[in-house]
Amino acid sequence: MIIAIDLDGVIADSLGKFIEFHNDVFNTSLKVADFTSYTLNESIGMPRKEEIKHIEMFDDSNYFNEIKPLKEAPSAILDLSSSHKLAIVTGRNEGQKEKTLLWIKKYVPQIKEIFFIRKSVRDNSKSKAEICKEIQADILIEDNLKYAQQVAQAGIKVLLFDYPWNQSSNLNPLIIRVCGWKEALNFINSLKIK
Ligand SMILES: [Mg+2]
Repeated sequence: MIIAIDLDGVIADSLGKFIEFHNDVFNTSLKVADFTSYTLNESIGMPRKEEIKHIEMFDDSNYFNEIKPLKEAPSAILDLSSSHKLAIVTGRNEGQKEKTLLWIKKYVPQIKEIFFIRKSVRDNSKSKAEICKEIQADILIEDNLKYAQQVAQAGIKVLLFDYPWNQSSNLNPLIIRVCGWKEALNFINSLKIK
């Protein structure tokens, strides 16, 4: 199969590092459970302008360079790469391309196809669904509810990593909720499709 995989929240523990950054720099006590939405604005009511500023500061900081992979991600990717074609489809923008490619080479070097859906922070001209269709992905592994719904609407199966920020009582039937990589691998192996 062709498996498209999101980067942040699925392979990279970017939120863990962002929380560390935010608590150190702004003296907050944020934790993962506070993120009941994808944005700080919706999660804790931070003004959107301030949130964007904080994210940009994080992206330029050393913390960004110290993002670690989620614990089971590298071995799961290695496992999948022996029978499937893998591609990363990330919501990061091309301004983060150089750092991101180095990171991928370091932690998940089996993945050679990498697609950035944005040219810049404000660019929304392409969607994950479009890229997934273009590369003829059979499955997307994702943690963002909005992207998951869009890709499922395009007729592509989605494995949605279960997190506080992607809860919904109204999931497209093509979306399967999984608790991390172990469940994702079990599901993909159960399909018995190469
Ligand atoms: Mg993500």
